[in-house]
Amino acid sequence: MQVNGLKDRAQDLRKSFIDSLEEDIRDFLINEAELHTYDDLTKVNPVTPSTVLKCLQARYSAKVFYTHAGCTLVALNPFQPIPDLYSLDVMREYHSAPQPQEFKPHIFIVAEEAYRNVQGQVEPMNQSLVYSGESGAGKTWTSRCLMKYYATVAASSQKCQDTVEKIERRVLGSNPIMEAFGNACTLRNSNSSRFGKYIQLQLNGSVLLSLRFTHEHEPEMMKGATGKQRLEWMLPLDQDFAWLPHAEKTLEEDCLQETVEAMINLGIDESKRTQIFRILAGLLQLGNVDFRPALEEAQTCDLDEHSKGTADLLQVPLDELQSCLTVRTLRAGKQNVLKLCSQSECSVRRDCLAKVIYAQLFDWLVTFINNSMCADRSMWCNFIGLLDVYGFECFLLNNLEQLCINYANEKLQQHFVAHYLKAQQEEYVTEGLQWSFIRYQDNQGCLDLIEGSPSSIFSLLNEECRLNRASDAKQFCVRLQKELSHNASISWDKFSKQPHFTVAHYADKVSYQIEGMMEKNKDPVPPELISLLQNSQDSLLHSLFADGDHESEGLRGHSKVVTVISKFRNSLESLMKILHSTTPHYTRCIKPNPDCRPLTFKREEVITQLEACGIVETINISAAGFPISNQAVLGSAVEDVLNVVLKRRASNSTLSPDDNNNMVHCGRTKVFLTHSLLEMLEVHRNRVRSQKAFCI
Ligand code: ADP
Ligand code: MG
Repeated sequence: MQVNGLKDRAQDLRKSFIDSLEEDIRDFLINEAELHTYDDLTKVNPVTPSTVLKCLQARYSAKVFYTHAGCTLVALNPFQPIPDLYSLDVMREYHSAPQPQEFKPHIFIVAEEAYRNVQGQVEPMNQSLVYSGESGAGKTWTSRCLMKYYATVAASSQKCQDTVEKIERRVLGSNPIMEAFGNACTLRNSNSSRFGKYIQLQLNGSVLLSLRFTHEHEPEMMKGATGKQRLEWMLPLDQDFAWLPHAEKTLEEDCLQETVEAMINLGIDESKRTQIFRILAGLLQLGNVDFRPALEEAQTCDLDEHSKGTADLLQVPLDELQSCLTVRTLRAGKQNVLKLCSQSECSVRRDCLAKVIYAQLFDWLVTFINNSMCADRSMWCNFIGLLDVYGFECFLLNNLEQLCINYANEKLQQHFVAHYLKAQQEEYVTEGLQWSFIRYQDNQGCLDLIEGSPSSIFSLLNEECRLNRASDAKQFCVRLQKELSHNASISWDKFSKQPHFTVAHYADKVSYQIEGMMEKNKDPVPPELISLLQNSQDSLLHSLFADGDHESEGLRGHSKVVTVISKFRNSLESLMKILHSTTPHYTRCIKPNPDCRPLTFKREEVITQLEACGIVETINISAAGFPISNQAVLGSAVEDVLNVVLKRRASNSTLSPDDNNNMVHCGRTKVFLTHSLLEMLEVHRNRVRSQKAFCI
């Protein structure tokens, strides 16, 4: 009798509890007026792309730009300066707060958490702040904010004003140089950095800048040159340069000056600075060199002023420059045969020359900066790494660049999921819970498809490139189908006429065209170009190419071809290695409209990016379960749920995965509740209590 009474009561309780839950879900969907107050997307219920979008839109309209998504932070770009959002006072507030995470969501919460972790008394651990997003989403902005934050907080721990300034100069000082060098003009954002980069801030009481990885770069630093400099560098004011953006935006006049000052601070002396700028000016001239269709063999005689300018600035013989841009040396048996290049081949060679010079110069600068700024290597110190990665890309036409970028994103996604799930998984296993109730997309299959062995897209592409034969896109497509169609992540559109393959990435399906992919992967530097540079009278340029790395491979037969893919993969691998040794913090930067218009939220634009960064999955992972060990906080509400659930468990042996909307799971010693359920319980504590009293 007594037992039956208890059972009934428990059933009543459960029913009323679930009723009230449903009421809350309805409330959420109806109560849009409060949406902007949700500072964590895990509280949104149910979590669907549309509810998440609604919440972010409501916050954006309310001029709230940061929102937690469980273990990551979502940053919406306001595209206009927001007064007081990043002021020194705000930095100090977050820095001095005992619990910064209780403040409004902000990039400074992430920054501060990493700062405290890296200095942890018990177990200091290196940290990585990873921010990703598409071009224009706000990654560079975020990186500047973080550097400023660390410069400020590290400086505030120093008594001496001198040191404060020195730290600021060091941390922020190299930024203009790296930005000036690293920014490229792309179609999507006139000032976008097209590479992933990793900056380490070494902490040793103070902060020091030390290291940076890069992938792609193009020049943009000649803006703001003075008249004298323009003369010296052959840059007349009215001259347009093919490789400089046709700036609609106002030219940043102080850009060059800022760069020069930063160079001085880093100890690059005047003669080196002059050399660097002269080489860059040479590249701009080179960009304007045009070629006529090679109808007659007179091409080489047609010396235009830009070729002269280039030769002067790079200090190479003009006739050699001309011939190596327009004539190819082929090896036939033991003899070299000269062949005139077509107009488009000439352009490819010109761009290649510029790229190889620029890449070497950039590497030289990175090494220089690292050497001048790195703390004493013998001293053990912890670091905070800032990783700026290009986000997932899907255009109408995608090629090798997108394949590399999306591959990097797959790697990061895998790292992200593994990192967050691992911690939870361990706890669940100890608690004897079934792990499978967190459904997440394992992207190992996709990574196997791209980089696996023995057969993958990368291995087949590399093999093709090493064969050193004219590549045929159609044939390669057939080969891919033959070797890889067992992998579920690859498919082919029957109706497409172009040779292509489609990869199902974690974020979206992307079709890659095969035409041109093999050539891009080879990215060969014609040996003539290298020997031209080795003959430069400019000591810096000469030294950049003096070592054996750049020996003319082509002329010695087709020995080892280091493909773009291999280089990209190696560089990504060393980055992942560092990432694995750190505690990561993820920020997803979102570009709310394609035109960079202030405070404009385009739903389609945002939803695509949310999908691309797998936000719903991220929220689910974060919200999947949090152990509530402190039952006292919840009081009787938890006990009630517990009673109901435990009883059910006893009679049904195990919980079904869909029980209670997957919000409650019972372990050996703990009850696991989702964040959203916890919130609801808090709200309903009193109601349930009174119901209980009533029942009794
Ligand atoms: P990305 O590096 O992702 O390509 P950027 O950081 O260069 O993008 O941002 C693009 C533009 O958006 C910047 O020029 C900047 O003016 C603006 N922006 C980005 N984040 C913010 C922010 N938090 N507040 C104000 N403006 C921003
Ligand atoms: Mg950028």
